[in-house]
Amino acid sequence: MSHRKLFLLPGDGIGPEITAELEKVIAFMNTKADAGFEIEKGLVGGSAYDAHGVAISDDDMARAMAADAVILAAVGGPKWDSVPYDVRPEAGLLRLRKDMQLFANLRPAICYSALAASSSLKPELVEGLDILIVRELTGGVYFGEPKEVIDLENGQQRAIDTQVYDTYEIERIAAVAFELARTRDNRVCSMDKRNVMKSGLFWNQVVNRVHDEKYKDVTLSHMLADAGGMQLVRAPKQFDVIVTDNLFGDLLSDVAAMLTGSLGMLPSASLGAEDPATGKRKAMYEPVHGSAPDIAGQGIANPLAMIASFAMCLRYSFNMIKEAEALDAAIAQVLEDGLRTGDIMAEGCRKVGTAAMGDAVVDAFAGKLAA
Ligand code: NAD
Repeated sequence: MSHRKLFLLPGDGIGPEITAELEKVIAFMNTKADAGFEIEKGLVGGSAYDAHGVAISDDDMARAMAADAVILAAVGGPKWDSVPYDVRPEAGLLRLRKDMQLFANLRPAICYSALAASSSLKPELVEGLDILIVRELTGGVYFGEPKEVIDLENGQQRAIDTQVYDTYEIERIAAVAFELARTRDNRVCSMDKRNVMKSGLFWNQVVNRVHDEKYKDVTLSHMLADAGGMQLVRAPKQFDVIVTDNLFGDLLSDVAAMLTGSLGMLPSASLGAEDPATGKRKAMYEPVHGSAPDIAGQGIANPLAMIASFAMCLRYSFNMIKEAEALDAAIAQVLEDGLRTGDIMAEGCRKVGTAAMGDAVVDAFAGKLAA
């Protein structure tokens, strides 16, 4: 039996409730499929602040670094709104991303047929949608220096952010996008603003070179990021993998997210560089939604984004493709069967709580794995 080390960070609000449902899935895989997952748990966000006075302790950070994959639920809540800035709940997330050097953020936008009617677009535009946005996460205008407001001494001030990308940053994110495309429909669309930005032109050139050197088998296209935003809401199914920088990725992945109808359904992954010795990447998986303090402790949160994040973990950290596909299919199945938590409730469906939804996924997963 192989040992696969998972580090779970339930965090705050609904985090522990949805993590409990994920643990049912993991326990099932260990007992019925001999998957050999070892679970350690730690604290992040407000719960870490309450226990240790920081958003993540050094000890938990070390355990995150040593794990094969980190799975985080959500952080934050009104209880910690007035804690000092550097120990606010989000600081835990930022430290994990920074110390683990997670430069590639993967946000799939999948529209389950059973939920197509909840999208703001016409069902036929989104039904069966399956696209993946690969966003550069550690560079670009959010981090570039100088980043300041200066006094021009003429009664005016000037605010400056700097968009900056080095060759290696574009090379490595492009490589991730091409490699992921090979596991899907083998198409990448790179989005930039090369018509008005030097960094956009450079992005475009480096992506083309990486493609020519190593990934000729993948179909590469380019789009200006503004046109890409339009195309995402006009005809989203035309895309397979979209690769873009930190700023455009932030905007475009939120647009793509809303095509799918519900926040409680959206998983994400953040990956670091491949270790040449082991071939493994540092990785963290988390639902896109927050800690939903308005419904915490009521047993009504939707655990599906959390479970779908683990399906990404099976795929990208452990190469357990059959199991990942079965888990995704199990989520689709419970929706087809008409089970809904409150956030995705629709007429004619059966409303269930967090635990019943988790149990139903485990049952459906067992069926899919056996099939
Ligand atoms: P939120 O995502 O927590 O909630 C937005 C709305 O969606 C709420 O009405 C909530 O009840 C609902 N919702 C979210 N996830 C749900 C689920 N799984 N099942 C059912 N309903 C769900 O966003 P918010 O209200 O803006 O933020 C709440 C807290 O979460 C804040 O402290 C914020 O800073 C934090 N936050 C954390 C993360 C993260 O941990 N990655 C992301 C976003 C927000």
